Amino acid sequence: MKIVLTAGRALMSDYNGTSYMGFVSALPASLIGKRLEKVFFPTYSDENGHVLWGTYSILKIESSLIKAGFSRDEVIVADPTKLDRVIGEDTKAIGITCMDPLGVGYGSGIVYMAMMLYGIIPKGRSYMSKSFLDVINHPNVKKYKPKIIVGGEASWQIIDLNMQEKLSIDTAVLGEGEKVAPELFKKAVKGEDLPKFVNGVPVNADEIPPILTPSIGGLVEITRGCGRGCKFCTPTLLKFRSIPLDTILRETEFNLQHGAKTIGLHSEDFLRYGSKTLIPEEDKILNLFENVQRFTKKYDAGIGVDFVTAACTMSKPKLAEKVGNEYVNVGGKKSFIEMGIETGSPRLINLMMPGKVLPYKAEQYPEMVEQAIGILNDSGWTVVGTLITELPEENEYDVIKTIELIDNLKNLEVIPFVLPFIPMGQFRGREFTVLKNIVLDDLRRELFLKSLDKVVSQIKKDTRIVTSGITKSMLAKLALEFALWYMGKKIKKLEKMDHKEFEELVNKLEKDIVNVDN
Ligand code: SF4
Repeated sequence: MKIVLTAGRALMSDYNGTSYMGFVSALPASLIGKRLEKVFFPTYSDENGHVLWGTYSILKIESSLIKAGFSRDEVIVADPTKLDRVIGEDTKAIGITCMDPLGVGYGSGIVYMAMMLYGIIPKGRSYMSKSFLDVINHPNVKKYKPKIIVGGEASWQIIDLNMQEKLSIDTAVLGEGEKVAPELFKKAVKGEDLPKFVNGVPVNADEIPPILTPSIGGLVEITRGCGRGCKFCTPTLLKFRSIPLDTILRETEFNLQHGAKTIGLHSEDFLRYGSKTLIPEEDKILNLFENVQRFTKKYDAGIGVDFVTAACTMSKPKLAEKVGNEYVNVGGKKSFIEMGIETGSPRLINLMMPGKVLPYKAEQYPEMVEQAIGILNDSGWTVVGTLITELPEENEYDVIKTIELIDNLKNLEVIPFVLPFIPMGQFRGREFTVLKNIVLDDLRRELFLKSLDKVVSQIKKDTRIVTSGITKSMLAKLALEFALWYMGKKIKKLEKMDHKEFEELVNKLEKDIVNVDN
């Protein structure tokens, strides 16, 4: 095949329909043997290696190439486990999308930190990273040497960590790919030199082509970008757009026709759909869900949404409830929704993310978060809330305010993940230093352990949702239950340890830490 589009196995898998098990991909690959790899990261494709469902971002690149004039016979979205069938002498270019190619993202940060606290040395790269490198290092890639173009939300890692030459990557694309990809692949096919990196430009909503291969999880993008402008967030999210309803419904029906059991409406905040301001527009949202539900009902499928903000939930609480009860969690169904909480400190909000709380004031934020989570709980959602510690400018007062917020959330259905802020451009070795700083800081450690305690108890309650897609695998279910039991027990022990004992633990781990340059 002339152009092969793919991703690491961790990104091209549907985790057995249980995307919330995605955290497993942040574990060191050394812990996931061949057997668990098959359980947690199955891929689906035909005998030619064409995926039956692909990861959304690479599907948009496929569509943009076809729209630009490439034929369907020239481009394939390929199963990473069958690259030997698709990469050959005629392959001119391989496009790879990535989420955490070098294992320095938030996901692996939190998992490695938790492991460290548990006295386990995280050996080697995360599975997410390893599966990306498996594509780059595939024997057919080495043998036939197609041009390698890498994009996706974490392609910055390749540049910041200066790994482009070492990994023989011709071009790293930063930002949106639809506009720049056709030109790059045309050059690659002609054998011309490619630029080392390219800044993708935001695409107008009506120019984003619909997918041509079904997406994992029946994913359908409803908005792109955010525009709230938090200082630590990726600049790619600066421009907010709503996708035209026609495109959304076309992708919805297409996915359903190919067997999707759920349509996952993707956005940074589903309540922003169709709005030109930060206030949700009720008629636009209800029209969207009404139309999507027309199709899902016909195919006996469900609807899911991924992200929401506390601000939009509080702006239109009745609307959030209506969507929850009538379209997403129909008939008492339960599901997860993600919310970037980030901090409980109004001071830090004002410094780093004033847009996050608009149209409200930073001082109202902690209470807003509590109330919004309560509303979402009443509408069938368990909230997966992410918080960040070690943000630049964060001081003790900020950490205390975030601890207070976690305390106030204890009776709500929420899974609060505290993530270490990992500035771009850090190697694992230095990242260990970041994690060490958190573990040895009494307040930040308290924050981390408190949140971990709540995570474990909430996941125990929600095991049914977490394992819904892997019910067939008793091994995976038992492994999860055992891990939760063990974690709960260990947290209690950790909470009783004093500063000196943590210092001893970290010193021991630091001595044992391995070089992960593999
Ligand atoms: S609200 Fe979330 S997505 Fe939007 S800019 Fe802030 S961190 Fe980024």
